[in-house]
Amino acid sequence: MTLTEKVLARAAKRAVVTAGDNIWTSVDILLTHDVCGPGTIGVFKREFGANAKVWDREKIVITPDHYIFTSDAKCNRNVDILREFAAEQNLPYFYDVIDAKPGQRWVYDPEKANKVPQYGSRYAGVCHSAVAQKGHTRPGEVMIGTDSHTCSAGAFNMFSTGVGNTDAGFVMGTGKILLKVPPTIYWEFENTLSPGVMAKDIILYIIGELGVDGATYCALQFGGEGSHLLSMEERMTITNMAIEAGGKNGIFEFDSTTRDFVDERCRINGTKSQYTPVDRDSDEKFLKTFKLDLSQLEPTVACHPNPGVRKLARELRSEKLDRAYIGSCTGGKTSDFFAAAQILRGRQVSIPTFAVPATPEVERDMKTLQIEGKTLWQILEDSGALISANPGCAACLGGPQDTFGRMNQTGKCISTTNRNFPGRMGDKEAHIFLASPSTVAASAVAGYVADPRDYLQ
Ligand code: SF4
Repeated sequence: MTLTEKVLARAAKRAVVTAGDNIWTSVDILLTHDVCGPGTIGVFKREFGANAKVWDREKIVITPDHYIFTSDAKCNRNVDILREFAAEQNLPYFYDVIDAKPGQRWVYDPEKANKVPQYGSRYAGVCHSAVAQKGHTRPGEVMIGTDSHTCSAGAFNMFSTGVGNTDAGFVMGTGKILLKVPPTIYWEFENTLSPGVMAKDIILYIIGELGVDGATYCALQFGGEGSHLLSMEERMTITNMAIEAGGKNGIFEFDSTTRDFVDERCRINGTKSQYTPVDRDSDEKFLKTFKLDLSQLEPTVACHPNPGVRKLARELRSEKLDRAYIGSCTGGKTSDFFAAAQILRGRQVSIPTFAVPATPEVERDMKTLQIEGKTLWQILEDSGALISANPGCAACLGGPQDTFGRMNQTGKCISTTNRNFPGRMGDKEAHIFLASPSTVAASAVAGYVADPRDYLQ
C-alpha cells in the first residue's frame, strides 16, 4: 500500500485498502474556522439536536483566522458563534481571537486597525500553521478540515483533506467520514535546491507539470533523498498546494525531522504525544511516478488566472507590478520572512508591499530573529514594507473591503499565497502572480517580476 492507503486502512480498521474503495474512516482531528465553523455547527445542531454533544471534545480544533480583523459585523459575529459553541461544548482547543470574559463579543477597532495588535493570548493565527505549531499534527493520523488547504498537514505523514460543512457536521457528531481511497501520484525528489530557489518553486513546478486538474482526487506522495533534506516548513509549503493540482491530499514520508518537530510541539502544548507513523511498503502501486532533480529548478511563477500557468521568473522581467504581498499559510511562515528579509536587507521596495505573519508565533520570531544585527521585522520596516500587527489570513482570500492588503482595485500583485483565480485577493480584474518569498521580495524592490538570484547578498 501507499502511505495514504496505509493511513486510511488503519483508520478504517482494515488490513488492506486499494484506490477506489469506499471506506468508513475514523477521524483524529476535525479542524474548522470562522468562515465554515458556524455553518458546520448549524449542520451539527440540525442533524444531531440542539443539545447534542460533539463526538470527542479533545479532537476538535477551532481557529478563527480568516475574516477577523475587519469592522464587518457579520464576520465579527462568526467569531462570537464559535466562542459560544466552544463554551457550550467545553472545547479545550478553541483558539479565540480575544481573551474574552463571559458574554464578551469580538469588536474590531478600526482606529487601531493593523498598526496595533488586537488579539489575545490564545489567538493562534492561520489554521494550517496553527495546527502544527499547537501540536495537533501527528504522523499516521487523519485530519479533516473545513478548508481546502487542510492538505497542508500531510507534511507530517498524515492523511489530511478539506471537506464541506455537511461532511464536517457529520464528523462533529460521529467522528466518522465516508471516503473514497484516492490513487497516488508519486514525486521522487533528488538532490537539493540551489540558492534563491525555495520550496514554493518546487510545488509551482509540480502544478505546472500536472495542471490545476491533473491530480484530481489523487494523493500526491513526496519522497526520495531530496525530500529528507527539506525542513518541516518547506514540506508544509509543498503539501499546502496539493489541492491546487486538484489533489485530495499530499503526504511526506516520516523521518527524524518530522519526529523532532512533532515531539517538541506536543510537549510544549501538552497535546497527545503518542502516534504511529506509516512507512513505505515495497509493493506500492502508483498511478504515475515522476522524478524531480531539485538542483535544476529555477525561481518559478504562476501567472494569472490559475496556479498552473507556469513561467520562470526570469522570463517575466518585463512584467510591471503594482503591489507585492508576503503572507498566508503558504508564504507567511518564519522561514518565508527570513528569506524575504535576506533579499530586502539594505534595500527599498518600489511598490506598495504588504506583509502579514501567519501566526503570532511567526510575528514573535520576526521580532527576535536577526540578520546582521537587525530583526526581520526591522529589515522589512526599513525597506518600506507595511507589516500587519495582526497575524492571520488577511488578503489571501480577499475578505471584506477593510482587509489589510486586499486588492480593492485592479492591478498586478505578486504574492506568496497559494491561489490566484480571478477575484481571489479582492478585485475580479486584478492579476495575481504566485511566487516564493524570495521572488516576491526581489520583485517588490524591482517593481517588476524579478529573479531573486540577481538579488542574493
Ligand atoms: S492563509 Fe489563505 S489559503 Fe491559508 S487558510 Fe487563510 S485564506 Fe486559506
